[in-house]
Amino acid sequence: MSQSKISSNINLEKDGKQFGYLRAPHSTNTSGWGSMLIPVVCIKNGDGPTVLFTGGNHGDEFEGPVSLLKLGRNLESSQIEGRVIILPALNYPALMAGVRLSPVDGKNMNRAFPGDPGGTITTMIADYVMREFVTVADAVIDLHSGGSSMVFAPTTVIHFLNDEHQMKRCFKAAEAFGAPYTMIVRELDAVGMLDSSVENTGKTFVSTELGGGAFLSPETIAVADRGLSNVLIHLGVLAGEPDSSNSRVMETPDEGAYFMAECDGLYEPVKEVGQAVKTSEVLGRIHDPDRPDIEAADICALCNGVLMTRAGRGWVRRGDTISVVAVDCAYRAD
Ligand code: CA
Repeated sequence: MSQSKISSNINLEKDGKQFGYLRAPHSTNTSGWGSMLIPVVCIKNGDGPTVLFTGGNHGDEFEGPVSLLKLGRNLESSQIEGRVIILPALNYPALMAGVRLSPVDGKNMNRAFPGDPGGTITTMIADYVMREFVTVADAVIDLHSGGSSMVFAPTTVIHFLNDEHQMKRCFKAAEAFGAPYTMIVRELDAVGMLDSSVENTGKTFVSTELGGGAFLSPETIAVADRGLSNVLIHLGVLAGEPDSSNSRVMETPDEGAYFMAECDGLYEPVKEVGQAVKTSEVLGRIHDPDRPDIEAADICALCNGVLMTRAGRGWVRRGDTISVVAVDCAYRAD
């Protein structure tokens, strides 16, 4: 395994709280010997589990970064037993630009894992995170939202895994987070995700979809803030009682979960996320502003369930996922 060009000024073995950064060489027209400094917070007290929190995997999803910045400032080492590593801006250049993909190399961080130390900036960061942080973590919590193109009902997300014990661990942690929904997902495109790279190591992994539309709401921030402390309590790093109400367990059905737009246009949502929907019921309509004379295209539910996701902006394009419907899931960890 060749060496990473990234270094860090954080000592992961040191007790106390450290604010530091990963330093990635980044030579540009305006900064010849420049570096990209990617913030990291490490909070450690004695022995105990290590939890890695990541936000800003996609740069237009803001609940994770905001909630993790708050956690990093508020959590003191004296309150914990173990170690909390926080990367609030995983795809740093994307977050700073407020866009999903890295503006430096055009890459999607969540398709760049397990990474490449000799690759472009996004794959270099992915590799460094895997080798330095995931290897020492017992659990990894990656905070996503719908980004500029989608809005989600606040949800924790795990996957169907072949390892029964690992899946139970992931499920329990996801449930403990205490979002209104816990969704077990069959991914459309799982290759290169942080999710699958961590799951392949056998460790506990939970992701979230907390809102979206590239904005924040008091509701989704509250779910994130509460979820972070709930999960730390669940994992034994923080003392106390979790503040989790029941999370409704959902799964994406094999057929009919995802609906892709088949034309461009302006999306009129008819149903809101969190609402029950029935097969053939209209979820929304796509209007073509160039054609006032033709009817809008109805987007209809392909199965009964709950609308988990809808288009998060006015314009939708052919091929966009504009709705995800999930159904109640009987899976339980005990
Ligand atoms: Ca995302």
